[in-house]
Amino acid sequence: MTQHTQIDHVIVGAGFAGLCAAIKLDEDGERDFVVLEKGEDVGGTWRDNTYPGAACDVPSQLYSFSFAPNREWSRSFSAQPEIQDYLQRVARDSGTLDRFRFDTAMRDATWDDASQRWIVTTDDTTYAARTLISGTGALSEPRLPDIDGIDSFAGEVFHSARWDHDSDLRGKRIAVIGTGASAIQIVPELQRVAGELHVYQRTAPWVIPRHDRTYSGLERFALRRVPGLQQLYRTAIYWGRETYVPVFTRWPRLAAPVEQVAKANIRKGISDPELQRKVTPDFQLGCKRVLISNAYYPALDADNTELVTDPISKVTPTGIVTADGTEREIDVLVVATGFHTTDMPIAEHITGRSGRTLAAVWAEHGQSAYKGTTVSGFPNLFFIVGPNTGLGHSSMVFMIESQVTYIRKALRAMRRNDFAELDVRADAERAWSEEMQRRMEPTVWHTGGCSSWYLDEHGNNTTLWPRTTFAFRGELASFDIDKYDVAAPATTHEPATLAGSSAGGQR
Ligand code: NAP
Repeated sequence: MTQHTQIDHVIVGAGFAGLCAAIKLDEDGERDFVVLEKGEDVGGTWRDNTYPGAACDVPSQLYSFSFAPNREWSRSFSAQPEIQDYLQRVARDSGTLDRFRFDTAMRDATWDDASQRWIVTTDDTTYAARTLISGTGALSEPRLPDIDGIDSFAGEVFHSARWDHDSDLRGKRIAVIGTGASAIQIVPELQRVAGELHVYQRTAPWVIPRHDRTYSGLERFALRRVPGLQQLYRTAIYWGRETYVPVFTRWPRLAAPVEQVAKANIRKGISDPELQRKVTPDFQLGCKRVLISNAYYPALDADNTELVTDPISKVTPTGIVTADGTEREIDVLVVATGFHTTDMPIAEHITGRSGRTLAAVWAEHGQSAYKGTTVSGFPNLFFIVGPNTGLGHSSMVFMIESQVTYIRKALRAMRRNDFAELDVRADAERAWSEEMQRRMEPTVWHTGGCSSWYLDEHGNNTTLWPRTTFAFRGELASFDIDKYDVAAPATTHEPATLAGSSAGGQR
């Protein structure tokens, strides 16, 4: 019989989400946990996305944990190495790294009713865990395009999130498929070194200027030394960003002046009127993520770059053929086609009380989770960055901290009341998801005339949060146990009772 390692919590993923969970559980005295991380380091998406030009398009001051402010940011929008350094530092300083297992993927997690635990397997260990906390995020599994012949390409090919740094790109003929957030950062870098650069655009994105700058020595000194200054700066940026919310969710037409700014950005960066026309979006600003760059349009305008808007019909061993029959020969193919967002890959590996995987449950109506965190029939499973928690306008770190607060309160309720199980009620989850979809109706993500990774195959937006981030924090500020079925440890054969309250159903 397989030996099970008894443990309180298994956390999956060591990016911002998993790291935050580990630190805060540790702070609460919930020290019996392991963090399973398939990569060799902390950092998650910031460890994986090392492509040239990788940087954050959320201002640096907002892009750190509230409990671990980074006094060292060198500029207003940080590049990937600085963010990765920050995460490594926070992990080191937290004293929790002894419980991180790197190069260790979670294979499967199955709820076991008899022991009231998650049986979690890795290649070499089987854990029996009281709770399972997923911090794998929405942007971890690259989505490769389903293009005829792509496997036959004989040159080098890699996804933006799996950059091959051994590849010498100087003077090469390079193709980039995609014009999303990653591609617009990669293209200017490649244009500088490539012999020829072909950029394959399916949909032109909105790109506004990037107001990025290096902090002066004086500014850095002041941010480090003047008490409260960094917090003030952060707060000002936070509230500035929240003003986008009513525009995206209620009155998308208010974004018209920003569209004019974006069009001016096109005219500034591109001289050729035909190219200007090709890069002008045909949907409302905000419908897809609004991108920021000063370098993208000039790179498209350069002599060694061609923007290809004819649809790709196939990839051959030597190049890419478009619908008009033209074949462009290339040496290197960069696939910047995004991630699995509405079909979270971890869901295939989690089996709940009914014996069905989460992927199978979600396949029926699309992914959903109560408060983006818990799923009915999957007791003691908590998501961080779960369904309908994504943002287009502000920092995911704020959402992550809000969810971790909720999880901590759930764990405290379990300890206090000696509950072995918490299972969100199906009606509570359904009502929450219906409210999400109702709130989506007037948003630019539905009405803006684009198709985006925010929407699933049913046309539902199951990825973004449709309200302010402070509303999210408010919703998750306390643990609403009345929305949960609870159960006492089976061995006691006693029904669970809620200390000081009669709320909450019992199994
Ligand atoms: P993305 O935004 O999903 O963009 C994917 C691009 O690939 C789109 O232009 C898409 O075209 C194109 N594409 C997909 N399949 C294709 C196909 N079969 N043929 C041709 N083109 C295809 O992916 P991403 O750029 O990697 O960004 C993903 C998310 O990561 C962003 O939205 C953002 O949240 C995050 N991100 C953030 C930063 C940052 O903070 N700086 C940087 C990078 C990424 P369509 O538009 O027509 O679908």
